[in-house]
Amino acid sequence: MGHTVAASHSIGKVATDKIFGANALAVKAVAQFGKDKVTNATIGALLDDNEQLVCLPTVEKVYRSVPITEVINYAPIAGLPDFLNAAMDHVFGESRPDAFTKAVATSGGSGVLHHAIWNYTELHDTVLTTDWYWGPYKVLCEEVLRKLDTFSLFNEKMQFNAPSFESKIKALLEKQNNLLVILNTPAHNPTGYTVTDAEWDGIIDILKAAAKNPVKKITVVIDIAYLDFSGERNACRKFFSKLGKMPANLLFIVGFSMSKSYTMYGQRVGAMIGVTSDADVAKEFEDINQYSNRATWSNINRGVMRMMAMIYADKELYAQVEKEREGYYQLIKQRADIFTQEAAAVNLTMLPYSAGYFLSVPTDSPDAVVEKLNAENIFAVALGKGIRIAVCAVPTEKIKGMAAKFKAAMDAVK
Ligand code: PLP
Repeated sequence: MGHTVAASHSIGKVATDKIFGANALAVKAVAQFGKDKVTNATIGALLDDNEQLVCLPTVEKVYRSVPITEVINYAPIAGLPDFLNAAMDHVFGESRPDAFTKAVATSGGSGVLHHAIWNYTELHDTVLTTDWYWGPYKVLCEEVLRKLDTFSLFNEKMQFNAPSFESKIKALLEKQNNLLVILNTPAHNPTGYTVTDAEWDGIIDILKAAAKNPVKKITVVIDIAYLDFSGERNACRKFFSKLGKMPANLLFIVGFSMSKSYTMYGQRVGAMIGVTSDADVAKEFEDINQYSNRATWSNINRGVMRMMAMIYADKELYAQVEKEREGYYQLIKQRADIFTQEAAAVNLTMLPYSAGYFLSVPTDSPDAVVEKLNAENIFAVALGKGIRIAVCAVPTEKIKGMAAKFKAAMDAVK
């Protein structure tokens, strides 16, 4: 290694993002062979069937009407109060838990994760998530000198693996007093899996049992980045009502993001919503996370917070946004349905997809399979145990026949 002037904890860090790398290959292929010849299933953003990035029309209309002073001005460090109330109402819908609920604005869902890891675990603690997970979870942990460990998301029946979850929680709580768990549901990235309401009951029982020891402090981030693309509005929110009446040492943090819900990826607006039965824990949640805002990015994008407040204040606008999003939910569903049906027809194993931007196929040799597919101008993201396919970004016509090509590539590398 050459000269280094970095602090010891920063030496050698390079963010090699597999997703952007895979996308770069697809972009190159488009330049060489033309757009029609290339299937780019790497992008984590919603594209319409003409492969154009989608902005929900009413969101665009309201955004363009936000007064310039609201766009350029600073915002309160904790976020605009109207935005925070709108975010909580939007997230919980008719399933608000019977608990204290407090919100702090963050730089998207990533900001929620950053603050949760920093404020609810000790230095060098281990954070727990599922074995299929969004890669940045690990980077977010390691940046602040925490580790990430995983449990098996699925049992052999392809349902939530409660015994694996429970045993990892027990093992970690033997070593540390603070435990942060990150669960990405509904419409999990990368598989599209949604924890069922019955599975939630089991998860909560395990967490409550672990919290029986008053020395232990357990925090669960529910990463709901894809909530609004996960199914019928009220049905997919039902699990929130289970989060009430918890012991004081069990805190839930719901991670809201406008990136997908309002097609505002680059605007960096989200909120962390604390759900607790304890007034002190609620007050502490607001205080320490506001402090972390001040200490990391100060305040966030005022204009987009205002935009959400404006949409929420007008029932018609809000209903219009919900309707437009529903249309795109159906578009993604249609694409995923085609892939799922074709996968079944060619005997391609898929992980259990319920909804969302991505589905995944398991394989022991993801890199080799992706390489084979790349040679046919199909681009997807190789993960540790499989391949992620962004159905949010592939036009319906190009989905057709994809499953067979995946199957052939897998058979070829066997
Ligand atoms: N969580 C998951 C699982 C994601 O896939 C993403 C974005 O891709 C996020 C959180 C955070 O997104 P943002 O920081 O843009 O809100």
